[in-house]
Amino acid sequence: MSVDQRRRIDVDRHAFLAYSVRCPFCDTPVGPRNVTREHLDVPPNPPYAATVQCPKCKEIFEVRFTDSPR
Ligand SMILES: [Zn+2]
Repeated sequence: MSVDQRRRIDVDRHAFLAYSVRCPFCDTPVGPRNVTREHLDVPPNPPYAATVQCPKCKEIFEVRFTDSPR
């Protein structure tokens, strides 16, 4: 995967809330505590995505929640 692809990953929201999602750069578990910005601007049920900063390698990437209704 290219770096650009790793900057935006699709995740299951429940897995994210349970810290079962891993940083695509260094494999460290990330979750709600690592969110730097929630994307609240798109209906119907925000947040549908969030910007996350890895606590270990400090990379910033966007997670999109695949279980969110559109
Ligand atoms: Zn990382």
